[in-house]
Amino acid sequence: MTKHLLVFTDMDGTLLDHDDYSWDAAKPALAELQKAEVPVICNTSKTFHEVAGLHRQMNIKAPFIVENGSAIYPAEAHKSEETLHINGAKRADILRHLAKMREKGFEFSGFNDWTQAQIIEHTGLNEADAAKSGQRDFSEPLLFNGNTEQKEEFIRLTESAGYLALQGGRFLSVQGQCDKGVALKWLAQKYAQQWQAEVLTIALGDSENDVAMLEAADVAVWIKRDKAAPQLSRTEQVFFATEKGPVGWNQIMAHLLQLHQSGKLKTLR
Ligand SMILES: [Mg+2]
Repeated sequence: MTKHLLVFTDMDGTLLDHDDYSWDAAKPALAELQKAEVPVICNTSKTFHEVAGLHRQMNIKAPFIVENGSAIYPAEAHKSEETLHINGAKRADILRHLAKMREKGFEFSGFNDWTQAQIIEHTGLNEADAAKSGQRDFSEPLLFNGNTEQKEEFIRLTESAGYLALQGGRFLSVQGQCDKGVALKWLAQKYAQQWQAEVLTIALGDSENDVAMLEAADVAVWIKRDKAAPQLSRTEQVFFATEKGPVGWNQIMAHLLQLHQSGKLKTLR
């Protein structure tokens, strides 16, 4: 018997094009998954308001995970904004930590420092989407000014203060000590309970902040980007899309669905 499939996907640079944020090329695979009633769970550094808006446009009805694993929302969250589960830290506490880091001499600027026009400039988002992206609850994305050593020291001090600095495709995200992998596991377990069945998880990503999610899933997919893919410690059931963004997403998903239908994908635990 085939196992119940769950798809967890990063958005920027993975399901959405890195530059124009389009998902058109992934529509055939998304339709296929919808037909098979496979939940497509966005697991992203984006905010609640950004994902809720995209869900409506993409007609996705599934729970979603925001701000790098910080919070999990149910499929109908747009009605109430109530979370299913929170792993992350409050943004006000994160901003207090960042103020201390600035006093120590670290140089950076983030969403909290930027005007709406600067957010647009740094993200390439349009005005409405930039506004949604600025409504953050659990993380602060920033651009770090400094050399590799300074950045490593910043990351180390942030961790010892009880937070985490994770590198995404554009920004270094400062957040609570949670990641996309912990959130994936939490939600996959909920589904297993609800379905009373074994679930098989597929995770797709393109950046360092996707590593934990790709380590935690049964099937890991790297979507092509300009740089080489980050290293995973696992080797089994790791796939590489040969095209970037939604084009790669669509191709690899068609391939994985075929493998799944013929029973060739397995759970790893
Ligand atoms: Mg990405």
